[in-house]
Amino acid sequence: MILVLQKSATEKQVEHILASARAWGLKANVSRGVERTIIGLIGDETEIRSKPLDMLPGVESVLAVLKPYKLAAAEARIGRTQIRLAPIKKGGRPVVIGGPEVVVMAGPCSIESREMLLDIARLVKKAGGKILRAGAFKPRTSPYSFQGMGYAGLRLLAEARAKVGIHVITEVMDVRDLEAVAAVADILQVGARNTQNFTLLKEIGKLHKPVMIKRGLANTIEELLMSAEYVMSEGNHEVILCERGIRTFEPMTRNTLDLAAVPVLKRESHLPVIADPSHGTGHWDLVVPMARAAVAAGADGVMVEIHPNPEEALSDGSQALLPKTFLRMMDELHRVAQVLGRKVG
Ligand code: PEP
Ligand code: MN
Repeated sequence: MILVLQKSATEKQVEHILASARAWGLKANVSRGVERTIIGLIGDETEIRSKPLDMLPGVESVLAVLKPYKLAAAEARIGRTQIRLAPIKKGGRPVVIGGPEVVVMAGPCSIESREMLLDIARLVKKAGGKILRAGAFKPRTSPYSFQGMGYAGLRLLAEARAKVGIHVITEVMDVRDLEAVAAVADILQVGARNTQNFTLLKEIGKLHKPVMIKRGLANTIEELLMSAEYVMSEGNHEVILCERGIRTFEPMTRNTLDLAAVPVLKRESHLPVIADPSHGTGHWDLVVPMARAAVAAGADGVMVEIHPNPEEALSDGSQALLPKTFLRMMDELHRVAQVLGRKVG
C-alpha cells in the first residue's frame, strides 16, 4: 500500500505515520521527491487494509499496489533509483548507476592470474569502463571444470581495485562467503543460477551493499523482480537488475538475450537495468551488436567479458572480447548513447 502525503505534510506527521506502521507490525519505506513524499507500507495485505490509513494526518491518498513486487515497483518510489559508489581515491569521481550515464562493467569471466587481472583492469579504466567484473567463485555446469580461484582471487581483486582505482563487481555463490566477498566488492553479483536462492537474497538484504541480480536461466521478468523484492524487503534497496539471456529452443546462441526485458523492467520498476550480452549470446562476435542494442533499448549499462587470449581462457572463452574489440565497442556505445542524449561514463 502506498500513502501519498499532502504537499504540506510535516516531518512530525511523517514520524507519526512511521510510528503507527511500526506499532501495526508493518515495514515502511519513505521516498521523498521534490514536491511530495510517499510512504510504502509492506506487510500482511489484509492486516494493512484493516487500518485507517486515510485517516492518518498528512495523508492525501492511499493506493494499493496490485503487483506482487511492492518495493521494486515503479509506483513505490518517486523518481528512479540511482546507485552511487563512492570514489575509491580522494578527489576521484563517484560512479552512478541508473543515472544519465551508461555504465560499462567489463573484465574476465574468471580471475585467472594477477598480471592478467591488472592488465584488464587498466584497459577497462582507460577505455572509460567504470567497473571491473571478474569471478572468484564460478558456477560451472561440471564439477570438473575450473571452479575459480576463490579467496585467492578475491585478494587479487582487492589489489586490482586499489592499484588501478576501479570499482569491482564479483559473484557471491554461497552465504558462507558473503562477508569476505562483501569486504572486497563494491557490488555483489548474484548469478543466474542463484536468482532464486532466497536464503542468499535475504542475507544480502541485511547488508548495506549494492547488489546486481541476474535473471535466472528460466525465470520470468516477474520472478526477477520478486528476487529484487526479497533483498529490498530485508532493508537493502540498492538493487540492480540484469538481463543475461534465458534458455529457449534456439541453439544458435548460448541463451536468448531478451532485450524487451530492458524496457519492461524500466517500466515496471525504478531499479537500474544492466544487460549482459556476453552470457546472453555466448559468442564474441554477437556481443558488440547486442551491447549496442541494449544501450539503444535504454539499459543503464552493459556487462561484458574480456580476455587477452580467449582460446586459453579458463571459462567462457568463446564469448570473450579481445581488448581491441572491447575498445571498438566502447567507441560504438558512446555513439549510440549520444543519440539518446546519454553518455558512456
Ligand atoms: C558471470 O557473470 O560470470 C556468470 C557466471 O554469469 P551468469 O550467472 O549470468 O551465468
Ligand atoms: Mn562468464
